[in-house]
Amino acid sequence: FEEIRRVDPEIAVALLAEMERQNSHIELIASENWVSKAVMAAMGSPLTNKYAEGYPGKRYYGGCQCVDIVEDLARERAKKLFGCEYVNVQPHSGAQANMAVMYAMLEPGDSVMGMNLDHGGHLTHGSPVNMSGKYYHFTSYGVDEKGFIDYDKMREIALECKPKLIIGGASAYARIIDFKRMREIADEVGAYLMIDIAHIAGLVAAELHPSPIPYAHVTTTTTHKTLRGPRGGMIMCSEEMNKKFNFNKAVFPGIQGGPLEHVIAAKAVSFREALEPEFRTYQQQILKNAQALCKGLQSRGIKIVSDGTDNHLMLVDLTQADVSGKDLEKRLDDAHITCNKNTIPNDPRSPFVTSGVRLGTPAVTTRGMVEEDMERIAEIIALVIADEKNVQKAQSMVKTLTDKYPLR
Ligand code: PLP
Repeated sequence: FEEIRRVDPEIAVALLAEMERQNSHIELIASENWVSKAVMAAMGSPLTNKYAEGYPGKRYYGGCQCVDIVEDLARERAKKLFGCEYVNVQPHSGAQANMAVMYAMLEPGDSVMGMNLDHGGHLTHGSPVNMSGKYYHFTSYGVDEKGFIDYDKMREIALECKPKLIIGGASAYARIIDFKRMREIADEVGAYLMIDIAHIAGLVAAELHPSPIPYAHVTTTTTHKTLRGPRGGMIMCSEEMNKKFNFNKAVFPGIQGGPLEHVIAAKAVSFREALEPEFRTYQQQILKNAQALCKGLQSRGIKIVSDGTDNHLMLVDLTQADVSGKDLEKRLDDAHITCNKNTIPNDPRSPFVTSGVRLGTPAVTTRGMVEEDMERIAEIIALVIADEKNVQKAQSMVKTLTDKYPLR
């Protein structure tokens, strides 16, 4: 940090302010986390200086013997962690991983099914503003009136639109996803199944959410959410599927140039951490904290989509409250709680305003918080929902908590 201050004081000031913001706020964005010092150090290492187009043993540049070791270790650890035969650790992000899979498996104009963005799906699963929605013909499926994925309806839609690919997985869905059922639907209509576990990868690795690996033809993920690695993406499948679609070629030279070997090193370090028994304890605590936060909110009369959660996140339904998702996000930020507004299924408000906020427990759990702290956070959130005038009081309650768990 001292070196950044010396060379670029403007960036140093912003960086310092961000570190202070992270320390003084309670982080409830479901897709965020704090990586270990080892993961951080790998990202800031001299590996960032190296070009390594290609794959270990088959590069387009000289001097790749060390990064080959790094990338092989990342791949081997990921295979062990998720129990799969083929892994590509080069996607720069979750969106890149998804794009590479679609590029490998589909032709422009092909019929594809993905979960409705407004029901919890991701932009890359067919939103019209994303490349996926522009290049392929997407039909969406969603949740029933109780907030659970409607598999019967999904089957009906699949029978009708005859997709070549069905995409499962979500960004704002709090329930266990039935991958087996999705595969049955895919088999019935002759489609391939891609599962995106970006959000739940840590839970899957810790065997606290069923794994898609036995059912999906291909699985994608990010590495920076519950998995607690660096920002990045990854593709997993069987040798047979890779032989058929050549995902390596789709990533490079298909949609990317040189891999980020410093990030791949950080992925390797985070996978090593995830293979340790403590990682499972951490994931269990994420779930316990999500249950405690959810119950704390519900006991104060706050509605939760699907009436609960099975994973690390929950969607607060504000349709009966006097505040929109946008306004609550702002109020909570003023109280030093960070979260994001989110549409809820069949939201009466626009995606820019919304009637929901999404809350998640991976980051606060990394910080060391436990169930009683979640109860306190629920109390603070309820105060802020009830009246904007409570924001100051809420901020001092937050300070007590953040002081108790300083970021290391
Ligand atoms: N897939 C899902 C389900 C996600 O939730 C996200 C990120 O929010 C992504 C893909 C995209 O990941 P990235 O932001 O790394 O491109």
